[in-house]
Order: sequence, then C-alpha cells, then structure tokens
Amino acid sequence: MKTSILPKCWDKKCDEEEMRRRKYLDKWQAVVCEHYIVFTNGPTASCKKYAVTLEKLYDMVQKELPFEDPDHLLVAYIFADKEDYFRYSMRITGWSEESARATAGHAMSTFYATYYNSPRDPTVYHEATHEIVGACLKVGGVGSWFQEGMAVYFEKKMSNQRLDSCRSDLKRGDCYTLEEFFAIRSLIADPKGHSHRNYDHAGALLDFMINAKEEPVAGKFKEFMDAARKQGYGFAEGKDLSARLIKNVYGLSVPEFEAAWMEHLGISR
Ligand SMILES: [Zn+2]
Repeated sequence: MKTSILPKCWDKKCDEEEMRRRKYLDKWQAVVCEHYIVFTNGPTASCKKYAVTLEKLYDMVQKELPFEDPDHLLVAYIFADKEDYFRYSMRITGWSEESARATAGHAMSTFYATYYNSPRDPTVYHEATHEIVGACLKVGGVGSWFQEGMAVYFEKKMSNQRLDSCRSDLKRGDCYTLEEFFAIRSLIADPKGHSHRNYDHAGALLDFMINAKEEPVAGKFKEFMDAARKQGYGFAEGKDLSARLIKNVYGLSVPEFEAAWMEHLGISR
C-alpha cells in the first residue's frame, strides 16, 4: 500500500519533500477486524468505528443471504482527505476526474474506498454492500438494476429506511417498465436523470425478490443468485440476461414478473 498505492494518491508536494512524504506515510495504519482490513490515515478512534459498522453490515448480509467467508480479509481504504480519494479513483480505478468527484465512495469486489465521512453514513453501507456482493456472494453481473438494488436494499435496512418508499411513484406510473429498467446500463448515469428514483425502485425490487411470500417468487432468491453467478460478469446484456434469468428461475416473462411485483405492493394498474 505504501509503495504502490499511496504514491499515486498523495499530494504532489509529497513527491518533492521527503519530510512531508514521511509524515504522510506515518499517518497510515491498518485496522484489522474479523472480516476486514481497513487502511486509513483518518483519526484512529473513528476509523475503528468504521470497522464496527462494516462488521455489522457483513453479519446482516451473511445472515440474510448465507455465504462462506472468503479466505482473505475484505479491503477498505479510508482517506482522510477527499482529494486523495479522488486521485485514488482516477489513478487506481481509472475514472475520469468528473466521475471521481461525483462520488463519495466506491467499491469493487477487491476493495471499498471512500474519504472520511460519518462511519454510519448510508453510503458506507451502500458501497460496502457492493464489495460483499462481488467478493462473498460472487454475483458480479446481471445488470445495474440488480447491483444497485442489492446495495440500496442493505443500505436502507442498515439505516432503518423504508424499502417501499417508491410505492406512490409506481402507483402513479412515475417509473420505467421493468423491460426499460433492465436495459439501463447504469442507473446512476441515467440520461433521463432519474438516478435517485431508479435507486429507490431497484431497492424495492430486490426487497420483493428476497422477501416475497407469494408464488412463484417466494423462496427463490438463492436460486436466482446461483443462476446469475453462472452468467459471469457482463453488464452490457442486462436486458436479455435479466429476462432469461427471470424466465428460468420463476417461469415468468418480464411483464408477468412486473405484474407479480405490483400485486405484492398492493398496486392495481
Ligand atoms: Zn451503488
């Protein structure tokens, strides 16, 4: 970390002044807990709280969607300085400056990175769920709706927010059809600007898939994840892949699946 990652993230004055560089590197420490290794240059006490938050999330996901612990610790990077986090996102993840600055944290199956915020900020749960889905549940694709839906679902559960808050949108028809929804390559980069609404809807849809008591969706989420896992990591064919998974697992077409969701929410159209 100190030789390969940090030199790409520090302020360029660290390249020029050795004292400054040493001081910067000295601040970094690793906080190890049961399932995570948190690398941070933030205040020790609050970064330990991050470890607690991350473990709580991990336990909740594992309890609800059982998986075996991976054979390595999950990695989290918490930068004290926003600018360091932005440089990390650009130089390590390869984002544009604009995309980096639009985020407060991001995750892949190999790491979760953020800048120092409240340890209980909902975005911590959101981003750390992305990491768990990739690293532990090992479901890497399906589509943006699925990945964001999982993250929003656990973010809301951990922060005691309602999962059915989109009910009124759906009732008014202020939403995409599921066929349109599945085709969106990135819910956050929705060209029509409905990113916030999309996240809400995705979280509610996952709540339906995980918790529905009605046939033929009830109790089949594990089967859905198993089928999705076999499909690999592509996002591009979200629409066709999602339709195929829904047909194979539930025996429903996408419009039939959508009708089942509406019925679950008590919405008649
Ligand atoms: Zn997300």
